[in-house]
Amino acid sequence: MNPLPRPEAAAVSTNAQLFERAQQSIPGGVNSPVRAFRAVGGTPRFITRAEGAYIWDAEGQRYIDYIGSWGPMILGHGHPAVLEAVLAAARDGFSFGAPTEREVELAEAIIGLVPSIEQVRLVSSGTEAGMSAIRLARGATGRSKIIKFEGCYHGHADALLVKAGSGLATFGHPTSAGVPAEVVQHTLVLEYNNVEQIEAAFQAHGKDIACVMIEPIAGNMNFVRASVPFVKRIRELCDQHGALFIFDEVMTGFRVALGSAQSLYAKAIPGFTPDISVFGKVIGGGMPLAAFASSRRIMQNLAPLGPVYQAGTLSGNPVATACGLATLKEISKPGFHEALGAKTRRLMTGLKAAADAAGVPFSVDSEGGMFGFFFMPELPQNYQQVMTTDQARFNRFFHGMLERGVYLAPALYEAGFTSAALSDADLDATLAAAKDVLAQA
Ligand SMILES: *Cc1c(COP(=O)(O)O)cnc(C)c1O
Repeated sequence: MNPLPRPEAAAVSTNAQLFERAQQSIPGGVNSPVRAFRAVGGTPRFITRAEGAYIWDAEGQRYIDYIGSWGPMILGHGHPAVLEAVLAAARDGFSFGAPTEREVELAEAIIGLVPSIEQVRLVSSGTEAGMSAIRLARGATGRSKIIKFEGCYHGHADALLVKAGSGLATFGHPTSAGVPAEVVQHTLVLEYNNVEQIEAAFQAHGKDIACVMIEPIAGNMNFVRASVPFVKRIRELCDQHGALFIFDEVMTGFRVALGSAQSLYAKAIPGFTPDISVFGKVIGGGMPLAAFASSRRIMQNLAPLGPVYQAGTLSGNPVATACGLATLKEISKPGFHEALGAKTRRLMTGLKAAADAAGVPFSVDSEGGMFGFFFMPELPQNYQQVMTTDQARFNRFFHGMLERGVYLAPALYEAGFTSAALSDADLDATLAAAKDVLAQA
């Protein structure tokens, strides 16, 4: 139950009217581009409220939510224990700009769940965490060059808005106006899951490479796993050349497994750990909160102990940390990720069966509470392959599902998310809608 009184919302504006109005005062009508539905066309839904597995739009239409605010809402919306923790924290004060015990508790909770971590610095967004992790890696190694992979997103820091150059010897080109070429001249962009390319890059630049940053399961080109041999080889190359390996777990952290994606790779590669981990989304439970974390030795480089500057007025915010802590406590209960993973697999198996029955080429993958499906017969291994997916078919599927009350990510290059609030009936309803839509696709 929601303890906050809520004024009866009369549906005074349609989604289309709100979108029209929004575009007057906000560029494109949205505060983050993917919300604008540009990839799929049509009118974005203006959301008025959410509860459990559902969200409602301004027209009173209910949707089963498979975005979950792009990852944070792993428990579903308005989980009673989380809501209680947030309300209690808010009553005690919104922000102090001074240390609090709850920040320490959250850092300790993260350290307790992820063995590679000895210290944590809390920030407010994944962008900030990724940007700071790179600064830390450069500061700790005294080197400038960084490697990222095509299709991986690590936030919108200048040095990361890059696409591959024309050859291996050349560094990247900015993908956004406003980013000078000089700012990305140290960023090398390689193909995901391509062992030969990363070997060649280390051969050419090994002594200058500060870090390799990766989404271990890429969720910003739909859902693509880094292969075990690929991750293992990067680990070896980093060790040989003195570079740091950064796992961007903003999306995968505490969602694909309680120990995050790195726990899955540690099972396949004995002793595996990244050097620096980046978190966001789930650790804030829907509040603006993110973190970067590493060994004590590497974290010593950060101000006020070391020369790498980093700061934030709202960092470790007391309401956000309450939300994150309550969320982590719930998902740490025995069997949580197993149960969530079973729901996700049931959804994916059902979608695949519906596509097969309709004769539609389709492939699926999932881990814990994160999934991907593709209108292609085989799972893609990199960005180029993802982008060969049948765009028109995806768009028809997206809109067909939306009309039937199922809210999927409005772009084929985004992963999907499940929550613990999804019931069997919700999954059945989703699959019935999919069967219907795919039969017409
Ligand atoms: C969402 C995301 C980010 C950026 O986080 P924001 O909170 O949106 O700034 C960074 N890395 C990955 C892998 C993400 O999915």
